[in-house]
Amino acid sequence: MAEKHHVGIFGGTFDPIHLGHLLTAEAVRDEFGLDKVIFIPAAQPPHKQDQFVTEAHHRLAMTTLATCSNPHFMVSDIELHRDGPSYSRDTLAVLSKLYGSDTEFYFIVGADSLRDLHTWSRPEELLQLCHLIGASRPKVPVDLAEIQSRFGRLGKEKIHVVTTPEIEISSTDIRERLLQGDSIKYLVPEAVEQYIYKEKLYLQIPTARGSML
Ligand code: ATP
Repeated sequence: MAEKHHVGIFGGTFDPIHLGHLLTAEAVRDEFGLDKVIFIPAAQPPHKQDQFVTEAHHRLAMTTLATCSNPHFMVSDIELHRDGPSYSRDTLAVLSKLYGSDTEFYFIVGADSLRDLHTWSRPEELLQLCHLIGASRPKVPVDLAEIQSRFGRLGKEKIHVVTTPEIEISSTDIRERLLQGDSIKYLVPEAVEQYIYKEKLYLQIPTARGSML
């Protein structure tokens, strides 16, 4: 039988992508021996429906710039071609068909998202399609057994936790710094920093989806 390929999937708004995202993806790749990690910027995340999100082509460009120096990292625009909210389950279903049965998927989420798994759209279907890896930071411990127990045998087999380095960076913080004219050096890769300034991103206060003050 052919050896399985192990592919990580890292979905996010990536508005903008930062070193916390990159460190997390690399830590999970290393720990699980993944062949690659595919970064998938979300079109309109279900949990950020009312929030202003930067145009997808900018987020895709920044994600590509941030990941291109790592031969194990790839970027997919699969969610940007679909209308409506991006549900992980739908994305994984498409990828499973594309890659076939000799690929095993590992969906990477922040520990905070893992705790809310029961509120996601049909989480059992997602667990049928992939493993779920919660990236837990040392200061944010996760009760893995409790989360697994909500999904029975499937939960035990498919839900995992990896402790990743503590790095207190969020996209929200980076956007706020840019609004205030503060430096974002060393919080994002240099190419991303340059792209943000060149495209004049995050310099105005967003009011609602699609409009700026
Ligand atoms: P925002 O501040 O806009 O909510 P974010 O920084 O949390 O954004 P997302 O694109 O929403 O970034 O995150 C994608 C995934 O990366 C989520 O699962 C989130 O939990 C995880 N993540 C975000 N920041 C970090 C970090 N510093 N360390 C580890 N994981 C992170």
